[in-house]
Amino acid sequence: MSAEPHVAHNYHPLPVTIASGEGAWVTDVDGKRYLDLLAGYSALNFGHGHPELLQAARGQLDRITLTSRAFRSDRLEPFAAALAELCGKDLVLPMNTGAEAVETGIKVARAWGYRVKGVAADRAKIIVAHGNFHGRTTTIVGFSDDPDARDDFGPYAPGFTAVPYGDADAIAAAIDDDTVAVLIEPIQGEGGVIIPPEGYLTAVRELTRERNVLFIADEIQSGLGRTGTTFACDREGVVPDVYLLGKALGGGILPVSAVVADEDVLGVIRPGEHGSTFGGNPLAAAVGLRVVELLRDGRFQERATALGEHLGGRLDALTGHGVTGYRRAGLWAGVDIDPAVGTGREIAEALLARGVLVKDTHGQTIRIAPPLVIRATEIDWAVEQLQVVLGR
Ligand code: PLP
Repeated sequence: MSAEPHVAHNYHPLPVTIASGEGAWVTDVDGKRYLDLLAGYSALNFGHGHPELLQAARGQLDRITLTSRAFRSDRLEPFAAALAELCGKDLVLPMNTGAEAVETGIKVARAWGYRVKGVAADRAKIIVAHGNFHGRTTTIVGFSDDPDARDDFGPYAPGFTAVPYGDADAIAAAIDDDTVAVLIEPIQGEGGVIIPPEGYLTAVRELTRERNVLFIADEIQSGLGRTGTTFACDREGVVPDVYLLGKALGGGILPVSAVVADEDVLGVIRPGEHGSTFGGNPLAAAVGLRVVELLRDGRFQERATALGEHLGGRLDALTGHGVTGYRRAGLWAGVDIDPAVGTGREIAEALLARGVLVKDTHGQTIRIAPPLVIRATEIDWAVEQLQVVLGR
């Protein structure tokens, strides 16, 4: 019998039942501890139960948690101001989940296309990349090329054209007069930490500017410190027109997402055209503000850089020994397991037995994305467990 007979089968969780967590560690219902190398798909960049984030949440719980946007709260503007400043933009549109931020970005781009660029009604086109993952809503899965995400969920929304990831020339060729935006992940997370060739983001920035098309960067997984910079776009010094943020923005405490852009873009949305009951609620804003404050002095970004280099050194030693290759940006790695050794899932299960939590993606890849509070010695220990599991 299933361990969760009443939970729908939309996930295939590893066989562990977690009861508590602190920092980079979680404890299961039997008291066994595990090092968390998934970090809630990078929603837990600051670790489990970060004291300052808990304090922000607890303080707000006792004041007020929800006003709805029918009224102003004293928490939303400070959060929006801080996040806008972090992004170097004018405006923030708060939502809850990542997929909602993506949907919002799509609406903003279309409205901008019709109202500012002058695209004819219902003609707006958005260019996306093969191998993308932007969430699970019906519009978004329609432009996914992952059969599990897409099949049997049609009919799909029109208005999206997919081109190969990492190929700026393909984007240039796909742009026409109806194109309103290019929507890409600066690094594809669910795709297996796929890092585009150097210069790609710069080229996308240049050509979108030249062709009067918005550059929307989905930084929901890649952003907020994970890659060693605040945003993965910073790695090339590129500033997109629109940032889509989520996951770590809620500090692993509650869902907080946002679309961040300048007035000339995000200002196209008028009262009544978009919203969310919980988007920008005072509890979310209090936690989100603290997240932005944690990112301001760059210490998490520095940790991601230094610990990422450390991790890279350890992974180098495994390459050719059970690992066929890996890609890494900051403290974020996609590690390809030699099929002769096992599948990604088998390796994840074997690591679980040794007290390490990872999740496989696309068959042979496991992702290593621990909370940025992890220590170098803990990374060493985790890689040693991987080495044992690989039989080396
Ligand atoms: N965009 C990217 C790049 C993601 O990695 C994800 C989730 O993994 C999403 C969007 C969707 O976020 P959510 O699961 O919060 O809807």
